[in-house]
Amino acid sequence: MNIVVLIKQVPDTWSERKLSDGDKTLDRASSDAVLDEINERAVEEALKIKEAGDAEVTILTAGPDRATDAIRKALSMGADKAVHVNDDAIHGSDAVATAKVLAKAIGTVGDVDLVLAGNEATDGRSGAMAGMLGELLGWPSLTHANELSVENGTAKAKRETDEGTCDLEAALPAVVSVGEKINEPRYPSFKGIMAAKKKPVSTLGISDLGLDASEVGLAGSLVQVDSFAPRPPKSGGQKVEDEGDGGAKIAEFLVGQKLI
Ligand SMILES: Cc1cc2nc3c(=O)[nH]c(=O)nc-3n(C[C@H](O)[C@H](O)[C@H](O)COP(=O)(O)OP(=O)(O)OC[C@H]3O[C@@H](n4cnc5c(N)ncnc54)[C@H](O)[C@@H]3O)c2cc1C
Repeated sequence: MNIVVLIKQVPDTWSERKLSDGDKTLDRASSDAVLDEINERAVEEALKIKEAGDAEVTILTAGPDRATDAIRKALSMGADKAVHVNDDAIHGSDAVATAKVLAKAIGTVGDVDLVLAGNEATDGRSGAMAGMLGELLGWPSLTHANELSVENGTAKAKRETDEGTCDLEAALPAVVSVGEKINEPRYPSFKGIMAAKKKPVSTLGISDLGLDASEVGLAGSLVQVDSFAPRPPKSGGQKVEDEGDGGAKIAEFLVGQKLI
């Protein structure tokens, strides 16, 4: 089985994140960058399928130079090889433009059976990539999977919602996005870290994908940031004086906030 895992390097949620004043895109240089945790779970799921049978796992990312660190981490977990789409023209791409790039890049990997992604990136948080890729590739997309099994050319997934659990099923090839509960990702071993240094990573530009600069980046994006403002500082909150009725006042407050 040929599996592609989509990974994204994102600003560490612990560091201060900001947009640049110039073109109002994410200021990547101002924060530490990490492999998005949800993508570690996508890699883990691919490795579980590989270990249960016979599969090759290719990591795919579209991102700047330093995304190589995220690629190496995924390879050190046990993936076999990687494709890095790295081109200045992609800077500022919205979700549709990013999906276009990723769909074309998936096409360079060969006969792909399964594409695994995170359900939502910690920075962009559009939660749209799996659906958009399914549309562009003409494949079914099973989103927000908290359980996944792949057997006899069929992917079966469970999606938990507030109302209950949905059982999803689709014939391969398919796109599956994973949720936080799907697994606990492994830590890369020392052997894995050393082996990752020798694993093949092919770097592609948009011309290798048959795309033109006008189709991606700020030029090819329908969504652009017009303006932004920093979040206002937190207010002092509401103080409840306990005059024997503190519990009732707190309950009243929580009801007002629709928390109870
Ligand atoms: C070179 C480059 C420059 C960018 N510059 C900016 C910028 O300046 N400002 C800005 O706001 N955004 C920027 N982006 C981010 C881009 O707009 C988002 O990646 C895109 O909109 C996807 O939305 P999301 O992250 O909300 O995806 P979601 O749909 O929330 O992500 C779900 C999953 O899709 C996969 N995925 C998402 N993005 C990628 C990716 N790039 N590569 C591989 N897998 C992916 C991951 O598995 C992820 O877990 C840039 C992206 C690239 C590639």
